[in-house]
Amino acid sequence: MESVKVKAYGTEACDAPLKQLNIDRRAVMPLDVEIEILYCGVCHSDLHTARNDWGGSVYPAVPGHEIVGKVTKVGTGVTKFKVGDLAAVGCLVDSCRHCDSCKQDLEQYCLNGFTGTYNGKDKHLGIQTFGGYSEKVVVDEHFVLQVPTNLDLAAVAPLLCAGITTWSPLKHWKVGKDSKVAVVGLGGLGHMAIKLAKGLGAHVTLFSRSANKEQDAIALGVDKMVISTDAKQMSAVKGQFDLIIDTVPYVHDVNPYVATLNISGTLVLVGYLGNLSPMLNTVPMILGRKSVAGSVIGGIAETQEMLDFCGKHNIVSDIEIIKMQEINEAYERMLKSDVRYRFVIDMASLKS
Ligand code: NAP
Ligand code: ZN
Ligand code: ZN
Repeated sequence: MESVKVKAYGTEACDAPLKQLNIDRRAVMPLDVEIEILYCGVCHSDLHTARNDWGGSVYPAVPGHEIVGKVTKVGTGVTKFKVGDLAAVGCLVDSCRHCDSCKQDLEQYCLNGFTGTYNGKDKHLGIQTFGGYSEKVVVDEHFVLQVPTNLDLAAVAPLLCAGITTWSPLKHWKVGKDSKVAVVGLGGLGHMAIKLAKGLGAHVTLFSRSANKEQDAIALGVDKMVISTDAKQMSAVKGQFDLIIDTVPYVHDVNPYVATLNISGTLVLVGYLGNLSPMLNTVPMILGRKSVAGSVIGGIAETQEMLDFCGKHNIVSDIEIIKMQEINEAYERMLKSDVRYRFVIDMASLKS
């Protein structure tokens, strides 16, 4: 299989900073689209992968799965895109396409394992996949999304992960007008969850540790903010929510949030991967028919649905544009919850 060298930014070890390096991309195949990357969002998962927080990171690792750009080449069999079109790529670039999940447009739950945009395995090159902190990417057209043309392109990038990861549970648990939704953590995912839930007509509460984010929360449209470290404020919202989307990236006590679910309500974990500590107490779950669930990103059709919804409702991410060379500092700021509310890399900076 032919490959081409592409300039990228990545890391060679979990404790090394990111730096410029060269990676291999496969040459365009008949169903592939080659995209010149214009902007790439910075997700907390990028940091988890660079630092091997989840185990299994392969080095060199090139993160980035909130990709928008311009089509520069298409394979002979491509029908969805032509050169010059805007295009986007999220967290998946392939799946088996024939299992029950894939047949239901749930590629993110592919029973044979989806191919992640980074730290996956390119079926054709046989090496790991590299993400969007790079000049260009080559992806099968099935996994490439159409971008609404009325939105600010840089601010669209975070929709490809933060957007779809929060949209998918909102849709699955049928959030609509007057649903009572709460969001835990005001970061990249959290701020998109608020915007999308408001767009769907829900009543939205934010749980945050950071009192200094209140003005922003109001500007984002929340109906109520609860400081999660204040026991009095927590007990005042007991039994209220139909759906809670918990975006906290690290281990934390979920029990106080379960207490705020309504009868039959569901708390969906999208942030933290691993064992909960303290453990979950089943008593309130059993006595209130409450669920604690999880959800990962979203399928390709659902991602397109979300992008189209955002185009129609003028929803984009609140972003701070950075240069590629500022990524290590951006990770440090992300660890301090000092992002309002998504870093987006202007990929033109990689050329300089
Ligand atoms: P982020 O921008 O860093 O936001 C996380 C927010 O959680 C912070 O702003 C902070 O909000 C709160 N927080 C951070 N550390 C905390 C702690 N130790 N205890 C309690 N709250 C804490 O991160 P993100 O990009 O939104 O990603 C969130 C998580 O989702 C990451 O773990 C990421 O890997 C994961 N993720 C999952 C999926 C999926 O498909 N399931 C997709 C994308 C990302 P406050 O200041 O308001 O408290
Ligand atoms: Zn992500
Ligand atoms: Zn499959």
